[in-house]
Amino acid sequence: MKQIEHIGIAVNNLDFAVPLFEKLLQTNCYKTEIVQSEQVATAFFACGESKIELLQSLNTDGIIAKFIDKRGEGMHHIAFLVDDIYAEINRLKAEGFTFINEAPKIGADNKLICFLRPKQTNGVLIELCQEVDRNADKTD
Ligand code: ZN
Repeated sequence: MKQIEHIGIAVNNLDFAVPLFEKLLQTNCYKTEIVQSEQVATAFFACGESKIELLQSLNTDGIIAKFIDKRGEGMHHIAFLVDDIYAEINRLKAEGFTFINEAPKIGADNKLICFLRPKQTNGVLIELCQEVDRNADKTD
């Protein structure tokens, strides 16, 4: 794994959390994005080579809403950047780890992502992410 790509933080309200993190990190939020498949609105901040991803649920029974119901606002996941997500999944499967979604999907920030089962990783939800080559689907 190359580096911590981002840390995901579950928040109730981006309207409140974005200006707060802008003050905290002393940098403006550089992107917001709705990820319909996950039913979340996200906001990104650069912090050195890594990022902070704030996550707000779009509905009351989404993954993030359930997380906050159970544990309150706070750190939700750590995402590690990998070169080849398929190779990394195979490597970790051989080590006995299991995945919430074994087939990577497109997440926020134009990344291929998958999540490990946190029961096997000391309760920490771990995301693997790989940059999607924006030119890969161009045929010319
Ligand atoms: Zn993430």
